[in-house]
Amino acid sequence: MATALITGSARGIGAAIAERLASDGFNIAFNDINEGCFENNDIVEKIRAKGVEAEVFCADVSKYAACEEMVKAVKERFDTIDVLVNNAGITRDGLMARMTEEQYDLVISVNQKSVFNMMKNVCEIMRKQKHGHIINLASVVGVYGNPGQVNYSASKAAIIGMTKTVAKEYGSRGITCNAVAPGFIHTPMTDKLTDEQKAAMLSRIAMKRYGEPEEIASVVSFLASEDSSYVTGQVIEIAGGLSI
Ligand code: NAP
Repeated sequence: MATALITGSARGIGAAIAERLASDGFNIAFNDINEGCFENNDIVEKIRAKGVEAEVFCADVSKYAACEEMVKAVKERFDTIDVLVNNAGITRDGLMARMTEEQYDLVISVNQKSVFNMMKNVCEIMRKQKHGHIINLASVVGVYGNPGQVNYSASKAAIIGMTKTVAKEYGSRGITCNAVAPGFIHTPMTDKLTDEQKAAMLSRIAMKRYGEPEEIASVVSFLASEDSSYVTGQVIEIAGGLSI
C-alpha cells in the first residue's frame, strides 16, 4: 500500500489532508513537533478506522538532522514514501518596522528551511522508487504579499521557487512537485486573527466565505493521485477568488 508523509498533521489543514489521503487508500505517516500535539486528539484513531495504517513521527521539521532521522524511520516502517506533503507552518505577524530578527528567522526556518530538509531526504527515496508526488503548502500571501507578514510572505514565496526548481530537477525521475496556495482557511492558525482582519479579508473574497481545510485536502488528493500525472511545477490557488 502507498504511503503519504504529512508534516504538521496533528490539526488544521494537515489533519484534513491526512483524512482525505487515508480515504484515498494511503497509509499515513503523521508528523508534528511533539507528542503533545496528538494528546486529546483522535485523528490517528480516525485514520486507522478507515482501514489503513497510521503512525506518528514527531520531529521539529526546521531541523535538518531531525528530518533526516524521521524520513529514515518512515521508510523503515512503511517501506515506501509515495507522497510528501510539506504542510507544517507558523506565523509570527507584525509590521516590518516592529518585527524582530527572531520572529523573522523562526518563520523562515519552520516554513521554508523545513521544505528543503524534507524534500532533500524524501527525493532520494522517491528517485530510487522512480516515482513520487510532492505537494508544498504555499499561500496567496507568497504571491501577492500582505502587510504584517514580511517573514511569512518571504517563506511562502520561497516555497514557490523551490517547488518549480525541484519539479525541474526531478521531473525526469518520475517525481512531480507542485504547490497549493490557500487563501483564508478556517483553522487554529487563522482563528487568532482579529475580527477586523477577518472582515477585511472576507470583503476581498469573490465567494464571500472562508475556505474549509477539506477544500485544500481535495486539491492535494488530486495532486497526490495519478489523475495529475502530467502536472508538475504548478501553484494552484485555492482562495475562493481572493486574487481575481
Ligand atoms: P495550524 O492549524 O497552525 O497547523 C500547523 C501544524 O504545524 C500545527 O499542528 C503545528 O504544531 C505544526 N508545526 C508547527 N511548527 C512545526 C515544526 N517546527 N515541526 C513540525 N510541525 C510543526 O495551521 P494551518 O492553518 O492548518 O496551516 C497549514 C499550512 O497551510 C501552513 O503551512 C500554513 O502556512 C498554510 N496556509 C494556511 C492558511 C490558512 O488560512 N489557514 C492559508 C494559507 C496557507 P503546533 O500546534 O505545535 O504549533
